[in-house]
Amino acid sequence: MICKQIRALYVFITSLLLMVTSNAFSNELESVRVWPSPDETRVVVDLKSEVDFSYFTLSSPYRVVVDLKNTNLTAKLPVLVKDSKILAKIRSSTAPSKGTYRLVFELKAKVTPNLFKLKPTPGGQYGHRLVVDLPHSSRSSSKPNQPVSNASATAVSKDASQLAGNADIIVAIDAGHGGEDPGSIGPTRKYEKHATLSISRKIAEQLNSVPGVKAVMTRKGDYFVNLNKRSDIARSSKAHLLVSIHADSFRSAKPRGGSVFVLNTRRANTEISRWVEKHEEQSELLGGAGEVLAKTNTDKNVSQTLLDLQFSHSQKEGYKVATNILKEMGKVTRLHKKEPVHASLAVLKSPDIPSVLVETGFISNPTEEKLLFQRSHQDKLARALSKSIVQYFEQNPPEGTLFAQRKTAKKHRVVRGDSLSAIAKQYGSSTQAIMKANNLKSSGLKIGQTLIIPGSSKPIAIAKASNPVETEEITHTVKSGEYLGKIASKYKVSVASIKQQNSLKRETLWVGQKLKITVKLKDLPVRKHKVKRGEFLSKIAKKYGVTIDSIRKTNKLRSDTLAVGQILLIPNK
Ligand SMILES: [Zn+2]
Repeated sequence: MICKQIRALYVFITSLLLMVTSNAFSNELESVRVWPSPDETRVVVDLKSEVDFSYFTLSSPYRVVVDLKNTNLTAKLPVLVKDSKILAKIRSSTAPSKGTYRLVFELKAKVTPNLFKLKPTPGGQYGHRLVVDLPHSSRSSSKPNQPVSNASATAVSKDASQLAGNADIIVAIDAGHGGEDPGSIGPTRKYEKHATLSISRKIAEQLNSVPGVKAVMTRKGDYFVNLNKRSDIARSSKAHLLVSIHADSFRSAKPRGGSVFVLNTRRANTEISRWVEKHEEQSELLGGAGEVLAKTNTDKNVSQTLLDLQFSHSQKEGYKVATNILKEMGKVTRLHKKEPVHASLAVLKSPDIPSVLVETGFISNPTEEKLLFQRSHQDKLARALSKSIVQYFEQNPPEGTLFAQRKTAKKHRVVRGDSLSAIAKQYGSSTQAIMKANNLKSSGLKIGQTLIIPGSSKPIAIAKASNPVETEEITHTVKSGEYLGKIASKYKVSVASIKQQNSLKRETLWVGQKLKITVKLKDLPVRKHKVKRGEFLSKIAKKYGVTIDSIRKTNKLRSDTLAVGQILLIPNK
């Protein structure tokens, strides 16, 4: 008790002393750095010592005015900002009182800024800072933001395709650190944040070339994204998996090799505390705002049982992915740990999303620092990672996805005259693979027996460049009485092209079967639109992406006035 009081008094006196000293010596504004990100622009003001500041906002034109007490300028002003959606210019202005330095942020729209101070980083990369966060929309900056500008469109199409059973598998790729937070720094002063972004971009590119897989990046440039927002982005994109990319470091140059961390809530070990110390505390210090801690505390109030259930699923899946990744990564780089390492890390704490964290190598090791920035090595890592991720989803396809459809479609009911080798040939599989998948001791088959045909051992083909505007891939559900020739003529395509696109070996179809067909837009079946209250021609034209004139012509309209309930034919571009 007494001890505590003395300590409190001591803290009080020291802070008094600090205030006196910082008042006695003038502070210095050393530099201003601007980090635009897709949904906010962060301005970092570097100062010689802790700053005493106040601010207010002005309208017409919109500005944020920040007064820095007892501060001189050594930085170069004004700063013209070209690539921010919200900030145009940072300049100085007449000081309200002697010794105060006034900064003016000229804005393009009204925003509620978020200002906070950051202490120097332990590694000494940065000193005292004042951060000015300018959200790009008027929404509160603490709300999870949509990851991509066309996110709503993506979500809609995903829901529709999920019903059709051919949804994409979404993989969130999280490039560690960024912006104000450099991550670990290599012996030749190379930053972890740059390696993680290049490697992540390559992984996303590889994944996007696989039909049925879509990558979403939690950051696309050199800016800071806090840990909660990273999982928010993954969650709002409905990601099936989150893969966080990092580079390891150690105080000595010796350790090298990659490792993979997986979520674990219970088992804490020295690896974890080392990692947390190095990555997270640093990230929090660099990111500031205290948001991470606040959120962690509320999470504790969530029903533990519910969390446990979700965690155990995510952990199990995460472990499988991690094992796959280690297997493939081990072929292209040295491994530091051959087994997945259990950890409890904020970026992995998305109970609903299986998550893994990949340390691609040790940036503190001179050889690996060089490798991590070598394009060919980054390519190898990206290929290994995307390959192992795709493999995992081939083995464990989430419901409603194209991968799942592919997998479930492969069942064969034995009919008279079937032989194992003929069936293998028919499905592009092998006798051994079918025997193994069905636990068969001999090659003898029974009529009526259902065989599981294992997924083709061939890797899934890489997509051709996506079609521009002329064609569109649609899914046709076979109705009673339909046959290939009829469907082909309906969409003005050939029977062969439908067979090829759907890898059909025979011409027999079943009712409810889903066929992918690439249709020329102009050959799409005619669309009809029933006019609703408040709709007008230009609105309808925009909805279908056609011109007003083409609607006028198709429907032989004499005037642009529409009646509610009127049926319009929509031309196919
Ligand atoms: Zn890191």
